[in-house]
Amino acid sequence: MFRIGHGYDVHRLVENRKLILGGVEIPHDKGLLGHSDADVVVHAIMDSMLGALALGDIGHLFPDTDEKFKGADSMKLLHKVCQIIAEKGYKVGNIDATIIAQSPKLAPYIFTMRENIAKVCNCDISQISVKATTEEKLGFTGEKLGISAHAVVLLIKR
Ligand code: ZN
Repeated sequence: MFRIGHGYDVHRLVENRKLILGGVEIPHDKGLLGHSDADVVVHAIMDSMLGALALGDIGHLFPDTDEKFKGADSMKLLHKVCQIIAEKGYKVGNIDATIIAQSPKLAPYIFTMRENIAKVCNCDISQISVKATTEEKLGFTGEKLGISAHAVVLLIKR
């Protein structure tokens, strides 16, 4: 009836890259490095959904050795994961995601991230939670070397 999943992801912050989180391009002096657009929160969400059904992870599904996924829009990859979940007979009950970033301030973008994710997952925005926090200048996120994200999902049998 129910399946629960957890996802975690990290990307390094570098110059000359766009910062894209939850499908929103956020003005910042650095962006996340990755084979795709490096949307770390969407990656954590996809891993939580795949994890809930024990289907492996996005590295397995969308290998970074495949040119097809170079610069890929992670929202499109999320759409693909939602299709896989649906094929297995499940839908999203709710998602709770946390982005860990020292900067920039993400509060102004949270609502649009939730809207974007809800749209792709065919959910109401009330089913999608995105939160942002810092690690009080500690560790790699605190030193602005990277951004990480956690996600938990509950899938419901259709
Ligand atoms: Zn990633």
